[in-house]
Amino acid sequence: MPLIEFTDKGLYCPQGGFYIDPWRGVDKAVITHAHSDHARWGSKHYLCHHLTKPLLQTRLGPNDYQSIEWNEPIDINGVKVSLHPAGHIIGSSQVRIEHKGEVWVFSGDYKVENDGISGEFEPVKCHNFITESTFGLPIYKWKPQQQIYDDIKAWVRKNQAVRKSSVLIAYSLGKAQRLLQPLSECTDTILLHGAVYNIHMALVNAGWKLPNVERVTPETPKEKLKGAVVIAPGSAEGSPWMRKFAPYETGVCSGWMQVRGNTRRRNADAGFALSDHADWPGLLQACKATEAQCVYATHGFQSAFSRYLSEQGIQGKEVHTEYGNDEEEGSKETEEQTAITED
Ligand SMILES: [Zn+2]
Ligand SMILES: [Zn+2]
Repeated sequence: MPLIEFTDKGLYCPQGGFYIDPWRGVDKAVITHAHSDHARWGSKHYLCHHLTKPLLQTRLGPNDYQSIEWNEPIDINGVKVSLHPAGHIIGSSQVRIEHKGEVWVFSGDYKVENDGISGEFEPVKCHNFITESTFGLPIYKWKPQQQIYDDIKAWVRKNQAVRKSSVLIAYSLGKAQRLLQPLSECTDTILLHGAVYNIHMALVNAGWKLPNVERVTPETPKEKLKGAVVIAPGSAEGSPWMRKFAPYETGVCSGWMQVRGNTRRRNADAGFALSDHADWPGLLQACKATEAQCVYATHGFQSAFSRYLSEQGIQGKEVHTEYGNDEEEGSKETEEQTAITED
């Protein structure tokens, strides 16, 4: 019996009797990170990293949560389970499970470049590695993040020079937090859409030190909205909510912006290929570092990526899961959040 089975509820460890990032409610769920496609409502017990817990509480409400530190193994029905940094967003973890000498690692979503807030991706040796493949095509190769931040700052300053607002479209959990430091170099006050603000406050209440922000409300004085620097989720893009910042330009922060036509298709003024996922070289580097004999590729370009791995002498397999919308701005999750918080 393999240590992980791919079932209709999600990744299941029969020996331990638990699921990892299940997409249906289960008794015991081990959660890699708080993005909605990996952390779903309806399970009885959730195990996650300490930093993921306040985010799950914000998104899923009160539940039975247990949290542990990275590299702190626990025993679940004789299976050794530990979490290791995935470098994707705050609290994001890979799950390592070991039973009778056999080791599997589920990476969840990850990126290998250290963003300074999400923990540094840790290669974990295993026999079987389950990898995401969101950007598993050779065309996806990110610039160093500092260069992207410099591009974003130059764009904001260009807008400021002509008294235009800069509205950055960025996923509310992950990219929005990464943008705060570079943006704080351009303005004293970063304005946040309600959906981004909620996540921000969950992190601040959990003890995070983050740059000064202000939530945009109907009471926000008009003069503050002009020439502002704003972070909003994809669902706000092109919505009436944006009009209050006029005249404004929009800049979309997403790995998909690597493909030039996508900026035009989104009607954005600027596209910044900033991603919380590994690019093609990053995925390959991570897979090789595990020394796994077999790599299962999920959510993304899994067939191209697994085929390429097989050509490299690693047994690549394709698996279909229900993960994979956190780089899709305007996803259902973001819209629901907007519905709750939009003013
Ligand atoms: Zn994610
Ligand atoms: Zn994912």
